[in-house]
Amino acid sequence: MQQLLFTAGLLLLQLAASSQNGYIRQSFKLPFSQGEKDYYVRLAGTDYVLNGDIIAGNTLQKTMLYQTNNHDFYIWPKGEIAINIDESLTNRVNRAGVNMRKQALEAIGEFNRLTNLRLVSHTNQRDYITLKFSPDTTYGGLSPVGRVGGEQIVWITALSSVRTYLHELMHSFGFYHEQSRHDRDQYVVVDTTKAAPEFRYNFQIEPGVTGTAYDYNSVMHYSAGAFASKDGDRTIRCKNGNVVTDCSLGGNRLSDLDIAGINSSYFYNASLPRVVYKDYLVRKEEQQVMFTNQQSSGALTKMTNQQLEEGMYKIKLNQTGKYLAIEGVSKDNGARLVQWDYVDQANHKFYIRKIADGIYVISAVHSGRYINAAGQGTADGTPVIQWDYAAQDNVRWKLYYKTGNQGSASGWVIQNKNSGTNLSLPSFSGSNNGEALVIRKQGYSDGAPEAIQTFSFEKIGNLPLREQGLYDNSPGMLKKVKQ
Ligand SMILES: [Zn+2]
Repeated sequence: MQQLLFTAGLLLLQLAASSQNGYIRQSFKLPFSQGEKDYYVRLAGTDYVLNGDIIAGNTLQKTMLYQTNNHDFYIWPKGEIAINIDESLTNRVNRAGVNMRKQALEAIGEFNRLTNLRLVSHTNQRDYITLKFSPDTTYGGLSPVGRVGGEQIVWITALSSVRTYLHELMHSFGFYHEQSRHDRDQYVVVDTTKAAPEFRYNFQIEPGVTGTAYDYNSVMHYSAGAFASKDGDRTIRCKNGNVVTDCSLGGNRLSDLDIAGINSSYFYNASLPRVVYKDYLVRKEEQQVMFTNQQSSGALTKMTNQQLEEGMYKIKLNQTGKYLAIEGVSKDNGARLVQWDYVDQANHKFYIRKIADGIYVISAVHSGRYINAAGQGTADGTPVIQWDYAAQDNVRWKLYYKTGNQGSASGWVIQNKNSGTNLSLPSFSGSNNGEALVIRKQGYSDGAPEAIQTFSFEKIGNLPLREQGLYDNSPGMLKKVKQ
């Protein structure tokens, strides 16, 4: 008896919780419907949601926020739809450990490959869809139906699969659930007594035209057990004439009839070329590849075969007009290479010695120590310092002269042989005295490759007459004949 009371008490608590969950009975007029109908809606984040995943607006109202019976507004002109993959999906994985941006790109690619739709990256289009992460896991995704106007957010949670993106995006493209079709009772039997009361309105027939045959495998079809109160119960069964059977319903990918349905609504552009969607990260990756290709083919940087003559130099950073120097006139190992206004003293002067075709070593005249990437580091931002000579690649620099690169001055590029990256300021715009140099890859500014930092070598003298054992017999080093 006590057990029974306890159970009954728990049930009451659950009912109270369910009510607090906020299922509210509300009448709505959906796009293209004749009048209002009742639904149970609940608040998910800031949106009222009906039929499980359809956003009805962010306030309780009689008509949906974007309610329209204007077909030309409801669908997307020319089937061209701008989509923004929000950064909240970029480095996130779903519950199965799959990267969510990759899922979004896969779904978008599927529409572009298989349908007349042209899904493009959002730039300045007035109306667009943003795919955004929601931490709520009471659903897989949420979307309004049809074009709303302005930015419309499609929420995706960690329960997502590629199907979630396909399904929610199809809502945003203007499609209802397949079992909401006016002719569905010929093909399925819906048993709302198997669903909790607040879910029974999810199975109503909605307005709209149907251009294709009923599709049990549609990505827009509820599953057979959708909103069932008990595991194993079926709210939807298949009907063939008078024969009703349990069946599998709903697909994970666009079915042939989904594709036909999209193409019958979006018949524009059918003969135009397909597009490939490129979000900002794809564009950035492509630019990197393009830049690397151009650099290796010489098209962008126009490397010349010019060789630098050995000697004593002052070295100017062309972008700032300042000169290389060893910080604080230090003679110590580890002192950093910085930029400074030119001063006629030895820590602003460097010996340049050629050790192979295009490969040089650079030493500070005042200390006799060699310019190298600290600790043989190869990471972007590795400091560049002076140190005793050691026969290894971090002390060797490839010097090549280039012309005409995207607004940067022509000049010499100083590339570390160990890392393959360039002697640079940490950012292109740094112009203060004392700013220390590093090695780093060329970066991006607003998605475009930034100009390579270049140097001018201004010869002010020759190498010392007597070399002091600076050239050794290690591989790659030429034995210097003493003068
Ligand atoms: Zn849905």
